Amino acid sequence: MGIDIGSTATKVVVLQDGYELIQQAIVPFGAGTSGADQALKKLSDLLANDNISLDQITYTVATGYGRQLFSGADKQISELSCHAKAIHHIYPNVHTVIDIGGQDVKVLHLSKNGQLDNFIMNEKCAAGTGRFLDVMAGVLETTTDNLASLDRLSSSPVEISSTCTVFAESEVISYLSYKQPIENIVAGIHNSVAKRTAGLTRRLGIVEDVAMSGGVAKNGGVVRALEQELSTHINVSQNSQLMGAIGAAIYAYEKSK
Ligand code: ADP
Repeated sequence: MGIDIGSTATKVVVLQDGYELIQQAIVPFGAGTSGADQALKKLSDLLANDNISLDQITYTVATGYGRQLFSGADKQISELSCHAKAIHHIYPNVHTVIDIGGQDVKVLHLSKNGQLDNFIMNEKCAAGTGRFLDVMAGVLETTTDNLASLDRLSSSPVEISSTCTVFAESEVISYLSYKQPIENIVAGIHNSVAKRTAGLTRRLGIVEDVAMSGGVAKNGGVVRALEQELSTHINVSQNSQLMGAIGAAIYAYEKSK
């Protein structure tokens, strides 16, 4: 089992024989809000449908921001290593990984054999992270999972010039008061996240192929904007938010042998 206790969400997966993902659970609670307990409860209920109990798990690796707070793991491994592990497993030709989570952005370089060569992280600031998008969705009276479909409707994205969440929020409110269509504001927000993330990615360097991991990769609008900004295709798994947990579970399988 791999459990990724993030700042915003906790993700847990169970792999059988190191490759078959037999069950998964995501709860919108992170390290500070007993996310691990809630994710394990959800997982345990799902496994019960297949007559499997948590006692049958042979080895558990915990990763993520809250991994040190979780006592139920056999080992703790950093989220950088776990994301690298899962991405290399799924996309062996990927050398640059952009991971946008709830509270930070990381860019990783992987070597040919999937080793973590180098990485860069944004400063501890909400701008350009999942938290930023969650706040903006709230201001627009929509939900984060609705942003991608609004982005697809946009014909003329607005310009968001502030990089700070607080000032960007004022800009968004001002666009709303001028009756800008919500889809153009959403696309403008995605473009601003992409600009910021692309800047960080270029500082480390872009070595193709490129992949995105983390919960924000579920937002097709951010992926669209980032592909435009970097002029490259970005590989995104439908399990992007589970990458840390999957990497942890692969490590768990390797350690259990
Ligand atoms: P962390 O590991 O820091 O908790 P995650 O990688 O789990 O972060 O990402 C959490 C973020 O993912 C949320 O803040 C939210 O913005 C984004 N997210 C989660 N689900 C979706 C979704 N269905 N569509 C768009 N964004 C999503």
